[in-house]
Amino acid sequence: MAFQRFKAAYRSLFFPEPVKPPYLHICQIGDPVLRAPAQPVPPDLIHSPEIKQILLQMRQVMKKYDSVGLAAPQIGIPLRILLLEFSLKRKKQFGEEVYAAREMSLLPLMTVINPEMKVDDYKKLEFPESCESVRGYSAVVPRYRAVTLTGLNEEGESLKLQSTGWTARIIQHEMEHLDGKLFIDSMISKTFQNDAWHRINVHQGRVQIQFYVK
Ligand SMILES: [Zn+2]
Repeated sequence: MAFQRFKAAYRSLFFPEPVKPPYLHICQIGDPVLRAPAQPVPPDLIHSPEIKQILLQMRQVMKKYDSVGLAAPQIGIPLRILLLEFSLKRKKQFGEEVYAAREMSLLPLMTVINPEMKVDDYKKLEFPESCESVRGYSAVVPRYRAVTLTGLNEEGESLKLQSTGWTARIIQHEMEHLDGKLFIDSMISKTFQNDAWHRINVHQGRVQIQFYVK
């Protein structure tokens, strides 16, 4: 028995057990959880400790990765929950010109459970987009100009958000995550790029994609 225990301990050094979801990291393309349709949250479970823990971890991951949106499947949870945020800090990162051209607007952190989306303006806008689950890459993705999002907040109350431009884009991106889709399924494929391509030339290939953010 002692030997068995030793063997197990020795093995765990080299083959650690995978951590279970909800994760504090973001799953990457190839993970089946990103390709499966997510299930609705039963409304009577919204106040359960399990859902509260998922919401808490989604907020932590969103903050850690400094994202504008996060869908529960991205932390390994196949449920229809998403977070949205467009902060003042983000606005400054883009600068006034891009902010105006891409019709961006500020959006306080918002949790949406069991979201539904309605298209209000079928005109499509084409701008570059990326995803924390396809880390290191981006592409131009055509998105509807205006959508309305409805769903429940973390208290289980109904909410409604009418959006245009960039906010509408973030919503469409996150809604696709809940249906097992990624932006690469909607992109103009010739625009798909590694965002470090120039740095790779400058540093003779010695550039890494980071999958962990402190
Ligand atoms: Zn994404």
